[in-house]
Amino acid sequence: MLQQTTVAAVIPYFGHWMKRFPDVQVLAGADEQDVMALWQGLGYYSRARNLLRAAREVTVQYGGTFPRDPGLLRALPGFGEYTAAAVAAFAFDHPSVVLDANIIRVLARLGDIGEPVDTAAGRAGIEELARALWPVRRGGRAFTGALMELGALICRPRNPLCHQCPVRTFCRTPHPEALPVKKSRPRIESLRDCRSVILHGGTVALSPSSGPRWRGLWLLPETERPPTARAAFTEKFSVTRFRVSMEIFPGLHPPPAARFFSLDALPPMPSPHARALKRWMKAHAPPSLLRDRKRKK
Ligand code: SF4
Repeated sequence: MLQQTTVAAVIPYFGHWMKRFPDVQVLAGADEQDVMALWQGLGYYSRARNLLRAAREVTVQYGGTFPRDPGLLRALPGFGEYTAAAVAAFAFDHPSVVLDANIIRVLARLGDIGEPVDTAAGRAGIEELARALWPVRRGGRAFTGALMELGALICRPRNPLCHQCPVRTFCRTPHPEALPVKKSRPRIESLRDCRSVILHGGTVALSPSSGPRWRGLWLLPETERPPTARAAFTEKFSVTRFRVSMEIFPGLHPPPAARFFSLDALPPMPSPHARALKRWMKAHAPPSLLRDRKRKK
């Protein structure tokens, strides 16, 4: 859940998730639609699908007990190098090297590494220093946690508190705020996306997502931009390096793959689409439909 997402955003989802799926066996037996519904709003939905696949693999291959070795963890769905190392360190105290943004910053400054840390040369310098400092047998949990905290609280991106730093005696950089160096970021691109809201009685037409990002979720149907009509409103959101302006139009004819869902039992939808539908209902739904829905509740 914490991949690309802040702790504050994750906390409520984590609580609900653990109540519904308290262990790996319960998750392994869950229906994908239920898993996606619980994840709705957290974004990056491939994480939810991978968690489900990983739970099923742990149940089938390892009898429901997580493997402890980072190499075996790495082979599970959704486990990249970082996640495998972090789970091995925090769950099993394995001395695997965990490199997140806070730790990379601390190491770049400790070793005064001026190569961009997102290049092969810079990464190699960080890894070499990490291997020299990391514990050898156990202690991955405390060591990794301490370095993360050091980065978050003392060796901050701006205004590092060097006078309070417990490792200042062997820190090599004279210019902490200049490190770590990074390559220039890719430019943000604008995208326009036109969608329609098609209501029929108490139902709305939704299309299954065809792309990998929102696989398993249902979207407002895509539409051509009508040459004369103006959008009812625009919902703006960001996806990776794209800034998307999603224009919403009233629609009449659903595309062939669309299905009608009751407004009271919607399938999992990505947040921007769920938000747009809610906004539409508030501003444009016929009063009779709103009255009916109120009565049902
Ligand atoms: S002395 Fe300053 S720059 Fe060096 S690790 Fe500590 S806080 Fe970071």
